[in-house]
Amino acid sequence: MTEKMRAVVYLGPEQVELRSLPIPKPLDGELLVKVRAAPTCGTDVKTYRRGHPKFPPPFIFGHEFGGDVVAVGKGVVAFREGMRVTANVFAECGECFFCKRGQGNLCVNLVYNFGAFAEYMIVPASIVQRTTFEIPPHVPYAHAALLEPLVTVVHGWHKVAIRSGETVAVIGAGGPISLMFIQLLLRSGAGQVIAIGHSPARLAVAGQLGATHLINAKEQDALMAVRELTQGFGADVVIECAGTKSTWESSVETVRRGGRVLWFGGLPGDTKVEIDAARVHYGEIDLFNMHGGTAEDAREAFDQIVSGVMNVAPLLNGEFPLESVELALQKMIAGEVVKTVIRPDS
Ligand SMILES: [Zn+2]
Ligand SMILES: [Zn+2]
Repeated sequence: MTEKMRAVVYLGPEQVELRSLPIPKPLDGELLVKVRAAPTCGTDVKTYRRGHPKFPPPFIFGHEFGGDVVAVGKGVVAFREGMRVTANVFAECGECFFCKRGQGNLCVNLVYNFGAFAEYMIVPASIVQRTTFEIPPHVPYAHAALLEPLVTVVHGWHKVAIRSGETVAVIGAGGPISLMFIQLLLRSGAGQVIAIGHSPARLAVAGQLGATHLINAKEQDALMAVRELTQGFGADVVIECAGTKSTWESSVETVRRGGRVLWFGGLPGDTKVEIDAARVHYGEIDLFNMHGGTAEDAREAFDQIVSGVMNVAPLLNGEFPLESVELALQKMIAGEVVKTVIRPDS
């Protein structure tokens, strides 16, 4: 008889179901992991509301995890039973056109892995080979599990390459991504970090983590506030983490001439944004885009969590059992929490 596990299955927008499913067996090169902590993520919220553009349901929900290896497939040498591990949600192939050019995040054979909101999950072979890491004893499972969002932040951070003394405006501040960016911006020597958001509770966390100015865009005109702080010119760099059409557009207004914008938050397909072409062209505004991160970014992100360079504890608010995944996502949507941790073993 096959042993069963509890798993939260995503069926479509606002439809998830706790089901009893067979515990999978690891194939060659794979790991079977007992999930100990699985943080909720902005991507889970987006998927919960409108589906996932690449993956049709049904699938086991959740993708950030820390857990224990309970079985290894043939050929796995780097990991063994009993090891505490985390992994990125994807891995590149290392061999395609993009991988050969150091752009593994654009790999045409990218392997994704979902299934963290379950008692057990499989880690696919290419992820085991390239983006799985052993968690040292002093790092909690839930902290290590923040690897995946941090990989993308590290990738974007390298792209905008902050210089010492620069003023950076972070739009969509208070969300997990922004809170990671704020820490790396300060590490790069940013002079002023202006956090622009909507939730006072989340903005307060941005302040705790070192943002020098907090702007509640519900209460004041964020563009005017940034100009006041920058002699009327605008920020040297704007990082857009809200992922809305209007914030994509306003980020181009918020940056100074000769400055840089990073559009971090992705928009749904076919979205058209309107920007002032003359302002961008004659003002020499550089527009950066990004998606995901490479295996090298993953290594760097993991090292930042382990070394404590990245303080992830303030991003995690509360723990919930598998039964309460929807409640946990609702709390994120309401802006009451930054992220929560699902504990499948509770
Ligand atoms: Zn995530
Ligand atoms: Zn590739």
